[in-house]
Amino acid sequence: MVSRVIPVEPFDLVIFGGTGDLARRKILPGLFRRYCAGQIPADSQIIGAARSEHDATEFRAIVAEAIREFGGGKACEDGTLDEFLQRIDYVTVDARGDTGWSELASKVRKDLINAFYFSVGPGLFGDLAERLHRYDMADDDSRIVVEKPFGRDLATAKALNASLAKHFDETQIYRIDHYLGKETVQNLMAVRFGNMLFEPLWNSQYIDHIQISVAETVGVGGRGGYYDKSGAMRDMVQNHLMQLLCLIAMEPPAKFDPDAVRDEKLKVIRALDPVEPHHIVRGQYGPSADDDGFRTHVGDPASKTESFVAMKIAISNWRWAGTPFYLRTGKKLKARTSEITVVFKDAPHSIFGAEAGRHNNELRIRLQPNEGMTLDVTIKEPGQGGMRLVDVPLDMSFAEALGPNVAEVPDAYERLIMDVIRGNQTLFMRGDEVEAAWAWTDPIIEGWQARGEVPKTYDSGSDGPTDAMAMIARDGRIWREIKL
Ligand code: NAP
Repeated sequence: MVSRVIPVEPFDLVIFGGTGDLARRKILPGLFRRYCAGQIPADSQIIGAARSEHDATEFRAIVAEAIREFGGGKACEDGTLDEFLQRIDYVTVDARGDTGWSELASKVRKDLINAFYFSVGPGLFGDLAERLHRYDMADDDSRIVVEKPFGRDLATAKALNASLAKHFDETQIYRIDHYLGKETVQNLMAVRFGNMLFEPLWNSQYIDHIQISVAETVGVGGRGGYYDKSGAMRDMVQNHLMQLLCLIAMEPPAKFDPDAVRDEKLKVIRALDPVEPHHIVRGQYGPSADDDGFRTHVGDPASKTESFVAMKIAISNWRWAGTPFYLRTGKKLKARTSEITVVFKDAPHSIFGAEAGRHNNELRIRLQPNEGMTLDVTIKEPGQGGMRLVDVPLDMSFAEALGPNVAEVPDAYERLIMDVIRGNQTLFMRGDEVEAAWAWTDPIIEGWQARGEVPKTYDSGSDGPTDAMAMIARDGRIWREIKL
C-alpha cells in the first residue's frame, strides 16, 4: 500500500513562543518531518518569535537540537536538515510591547498563505491578535492557531473568544485539541460512517455502554503549579475526553466538512445531562516508594485538586437514552493507554443453553499505544465436545495493516498544522463547542468546591481509587483493564 503525500501551498508560518517547550518538542520536529515527507514546498518560511534575544543562526541551532532530541523521521535523509534550516528565521518579539513587530511584519509575505501559531500562554492571545492587526500582518485569509488551555471556565473561555473575535473571524481561528489529530480518532469517523456494518447498531438498542479511558503513568512532573490550579477535569475531561465522547456519540454529519461535523459535536455536548455527585469519583495519587505523591509535587500539603476522575455520563437524546458513557482519566496509573470500548448488549436469547456461556461483542479503539481497533466476536471454542462459546478478537493494528508506510503517517501535531495551511477546520474546536463544554463542566467543579470535597487517595501504579470500581460495579459492570 502506497501512502500519498499531497504537498500544501507555499506558506509563511510564525510561531510565537518558538523557543518554548511545545515548539521544541512537537511543532518544529513535526514541521521537519512534513518537510522530509515532501509536503512542505521549499519556498515556505517558518519564523520563530519570542522575547529571548537570538539571531536566525542561533535559533536554527535551537531547532536542530530540538529535532535531534525529539525526532526526525524515517523519510528524513542526511542533508535534509540543513535544507530545512534554511527555511527557518527568527525575530525577537514582545507580545505585550512594540519590540520586533515592524521587523516581523517586514518578513511575512502577504501574497502567500500565512499562519500564526500562538504557542504561548493564553494570557497573551489577545495581545498577539491585536498586534497582528495593528502591524497590518493579517488579512481575511490569515489563520491563527491557539493552544489549550482555552480558558479555565465558561467566563474565561468567553473572554478569550471575544478577544480573538475582535480581530479574527471564527473561520480563521484554529483551536487545537491534539487528540483530534490522532489517526485513530479520524479512523473512528471512517469506521462509523464509511461502513454499513456499525452504524445500524450504534445506538442504545444494541450498545450496553461505552467506556473512554485515558491513563497516564507520569505524575504532574514539573507542571505542579499549573496542574494544582487545573486538575484532571479541566486538563483532560473538558477537552480531550469530551471530544472523544462527541465523535463516538454524534449523529452522522451530512458531509465531512468543518461546520457539519462541529454542529453535530455541539449537539452532543448540549444533550449531556448534569452529572449527579454520586456518579463522579475524584482521586489523588498518594506517596509511594518511588514517588513523593501529588501533594508534594504541587507544593500544597492540603491540595484538593484531582489527578484522577471517573464519571458516568448520560446523553439525553433518542440515540443514547439508556446507554451510559463511563469516562476515566488519571495520572500515575498502571499503564499509559488511551482506549475507547464499545460494549454491545448480549444476544437476546442463547440457543446454546446456559452451559455454552454467554458472550457479547466489544469494539476496542486504541488511541495509544499501538493505534488500532479490535472487535471481539463470539465463536465456538475449538476442539471441545458440545458447544462452548469463546470470544476471539478480530484485530486490526494499523501498524500491521499499513505495513512499512505507517512510518509516514503524520503524528497529531503534524497533521493538524498541515490542516491549518490547507484551511481545513474540521479537526479543530469551534468557539461555541468550547463554551458548551465549559458550561457543562463548570457546575461539576463548583459543586466540588461548594462541598469542600477531598479526592480519594490512590496508589501509584494502580487502576485509581477503589471508589471508581465501586461506582461502575453498582451498575453491574466493570472497567476494562488498563493495560498495554
Ligand atoms: P513555555 O515553554 O513556557 O514557552 C512559552 C513561550 O512563550 C516561550 O517561547 C517564551 O519565550 C514565549 N513568551 C513568553 N512571554 C512572551 C512575550 N511576552 N512575548 C513573546 N513571547 C513570549 O510554554 P510551552 O510549554 O511551550 O506552552 C506554550 C502554550 O502551549 C501554553 O499555552 C501551553 O498551555 C500550551 N501547551 C503546551 C504543551 C506542552 O507540551 N508544552 C501541551 C499542550 C499545550 P521567551 O521566554 O523567550 O519570551
